[in-house]
Amino acid sequence: VRVRIHRGAHEIGGNCIEVEAEGQRMVLDLGRPLGVDRDTIVPLPDVAGLAAGGDPALLGVVISHPHQDHYGLLGQVHPGVPVYIGKAAAAVLGAATFFSSAGISLHAAGHLAHRQAFKLGPFQLTPFLNDHSAFDAYSLLVEAAGRRLFYTGDLRGHGRKSGIFEQLLRKPPPADVLLMEGTHVRATGEHTPGPDEGDVEAELLATCKATRGMVAVLSSAQNIDRLVTVYRAARRAGRTLVVDLYGATIAEATGHDTIPRPGFPDLKVYVPNRQRVLVKKSGEFNRVNAIRPHRIFLDEIKQRAQELVVLAPSSVIGELARAGCLDGAVAVWSLWRGYLKDPSGKRLLDQLAAHGVPLLHQHSS
Ligand SMILES: [Zn+2]
Repeated sequence: VRVRIHRGAHEIGGNCIEVEAEGQRMVLDLGRPLGVDRDTIVPLPDVAGLAAGGDPALLGVVISHPHQDHYGLLGQVHPGVPVYIGKAAAAVLGAATFFSSAGISLHAAGHLAHRQAFKLGPFQLTPFLNDHSAFDAYSLLVEAAGRRLFYTGDLRGHGRKSGIFEQLLRKPPPADVLLMEGTHVRATGEHTPGPDEGDVEAELLATCKATRGMVAVLSSAQNIDRLVTVYRAARRAGRTLVVDLYGATIAEATGHDTIPRPGFPDLKVYVPNRQRVLVKKSGEFNRVNAIRPHRIFLDEIKQRAQELVVLAPSSVIGELARAGCLDGAVAVWSLWRGYLKDPSGKRLLDQLAAHGVPLLHQHSS
C-alpha cells in the first residue's frame, strides 16, 4: 500500500491524499487551500484520472466532511469519477448551491455512515462520525493488503458531539499509519484549552442579558453546532432567534429533527435583500412560501430588537443598520478572527464603527 500526501501536510486544510493498493487508487479529500482568495483558480493535484476521467484504476474520491478545504476542488473533477460523502453532508452542500458559490450538487456513488464499512476495490473503508464544526464529518479507516491507515479528517473534542470523540479514544481502530489533523496540536504542558461550545453558549447568554438592543451573531450557516449554541443561549435569555433563509435552508437539509429550524418555538426567519433577489430572479417562491408563518420583516425586527438574537452573515449588518435596527445593539463575531482582515471583514468593521456597535469575539474553533 502506498500513500501520497498531495497537500495539507504543511498548511491548515487543502487536504488531498492518494492511496494505492494492488494497482488501484482512491483519493481522500480534495480540498481548496484556505489561503487563496475566492477568484484564484487552484489546479487539481496530480492524480491520474481526476481531471480527465476514464481511468479504471481511479476508484473514487472520498470526502470526509463538507468544508471547502476538504471538498473545494470537486467541481473540477471529471463527473465520471465516483464521489463518496456523508448523506447529510451532501444534502447540506446541495442546499447551499442556491445561496453560495461554495455549494455543490453531488451525485454521490455511495454515502458514508458511522462505523458502516464498505468496499472500494481492494480497499475496505470504515467511516467514524466526528465531533467537528462541519455537519456529518467523518474519520476514515482504510484497510488494504493487510495494512491499515487511519485518516482523522478534522476532529475535535469540545463541540456538541464530544461524546463521539471520547468513544473513539476509548476504542480506537487499530492502525499502522495515522494521518492526523493537527491545527491545535501542542506539546504536553503547553496546552491551554480554548473555549468549547458550552463556553460560547455561556458567553452569548451573558451578552444577551447585558445588551439593551439586538444581539447580532455573525457566523457561518454551515456551522450547525453554532446554530444550536446560539438558539440555546437565546432561549435561556428569553430572546427569539432570527435566522436568515440560507441558515434555515441548511438546518432543514441536515434532515435531523433536533436541529433548530422554522417551526421551532421562538425562531423566526428573515430574508435579507440579497436572498430576496435570488428568490425573485429564480422564481423559486416556494422557498419563502414555506417559511411564511415564521417570517419576520425589518419593521418588526426594529420594534422588537431588544427581544431578538439575529444569526446571519455579516453582509446583513448594512440593511439592519439602514433600517434603524441597531440602536443599543452588540455584534458578536462567531468565526475565525482572521476573516476580519478580508475586504468583507474590513467593510463590516467600518459599518459597525459608523453605527457605534461594539464587536465581541465569541467563538470555538
Ligand atoms: Zn473542517
